[in-house]
Amino acid sequence: MKTLIITNCIANGTDKKINPSLLNLLGAATNINKHNKNNPNDNRDANDDNDNNNDVVSNVVVSGMSSDVLIIGYQLNEVCQQIANLKNVNQVLQLDHSSLDNLLVENVAKQIAEIVNNYTHILVNADSFGKNLLPRIAGILELGQISEVVEIISPSIFKKFIYAGNVLVEIESLEKIKLLSIRANNFTALSPINVCINVGINADINAPTSSAPINFLEYTNPISDKIRFVSKQIEDKSVSLDSAQIVVSGGISLGSAAAFDSHVRALAAKLNAAVGATRAAVEAGIAPNDCQVGQTGVIVAPKLYLAIGISGAVQHIAGMKDSKTVIAINTDSSAPIFEYADYGMVGDLFEIIPQLVNKL
Ligand SMILES: Cc1cc2nc3c(=O)[nH]c(=O)nc-3n(C[C@H](O)[C@H](O)[C@H](O)COP(=O)(O)OP(=O)(O)OC[C@H]3O[C@@H](n4cnc5c(N)ncnc54)[C@H](O)[C@@H]3O)c2cc1C
Repeated sequence: MKTLIITNCIANGTDKKINPSLLNLLGAATNINKHNKNNPNDNRDANDDNDNNNDVVSNVVVSGMSSDVLIIGYQLNEVCQQIANLKNVNQVLQLDHSSLDNLLVENVAKQIAEIVNNYTHILVNADSFGKNLLPRIAGILELGQISEVVEIISPSIFKKFIYAGNVLVEIESLEKIKLLSIRANNFTALSPINVCINVGINADINAPTSSAPINFLEYTNPISDKIRFVSKQIEDKSVSLDSAQIVVSGGISLGSAAAFDSHVRALAAKLNAAVGATRAAVEAGIAPNDCQVGQTGVIVAPKLYLAIGISGAVQHIAGMKDSKTVIAINTDSSAPIFEYADYGMVGDLFEIIPQLVNKL
């Protein structure tokens, strides 16, 4: 078995950081690689195919457990060095070109499809990058893909939710290359060797331990004539929604973007949390589109989820029900969100939130 993780980096101008989901993907990949029976150094029981403990290897480096990591973007030398220093990385493939600075997956899919042919398992984070890239590779190679995997049972059997998160199914893939998008938060992040969890900020790229080789790939993909990058607007988001430990979400009851900012964003800032919203709030123009949590938005699984003025529609619940602790604030004591909440406050958010913000 040979696993490849495909990732991008978090870019703020020329400042590039490892995408934190990579650590979770490395954790997920070990659940595949631990079944590598051909590896003479693999000390696991050859019959142990049903071990589904997601964090069984999170702190051990075992030969044969490593994955290759393909990173795509521009000016990636430092990020590649940091990835090479991470635990359980076999080699880093650096696809680095000025045309990939504002990455459009149309401009890499064909080349990646060729690389993918050398592997048995391809893992991407189920974020907008992964969701955009993987179906294109599947289309080019005429392979099926399994989306939003939440558990790896064996190298060919995976668990995922269907019907808006109401049914958990086990699926066996018979494809020769398994294309998997992974809900990163469902897997324990591998603790890095030289790079602290705050990867990219305090990372010591000169730390003197053995690191994986970095191989520079020549960029050969034809530039798409169907799509081109025009411009981007960077939101001031200190915490990314899909990997946040705390999420503060607001509903349509906030009434306006100004109230959303002064209540939901203000509380999130105090808690160093990411900001989420319901689809109703997004459609009303109260919150931006990329804040939407739910079936048709971002799937989150933070340690703490605060639902402020949110009714708890099934489509919203589908996006946050894996949160460890849920706190709900709602004027309606019969709102469905209270069925999912560990702690509930029946009351007016416009009274409660300012007090909470003041206290913190
Ligand atoms: C195909 C499909 C996909 C969808 N995908 C998503 C999705 O991904 N994410 C998503 O969120 N929704 C999604 N929806 C929409 C979903 O069905 C709900 O309409 C939406 O989640 C409701 O948002 P809300 O809780 O903000 O609004 P509402 O349901 O209107 O609830 C507002 C709540 O605020 C409370 N409230 C009012 N005033 C106050 C106050 N002053 N203080 C405290 N509480 C107050 C009310 O009691 C009520 O419970 C989808 C729907 C469809 C059909």
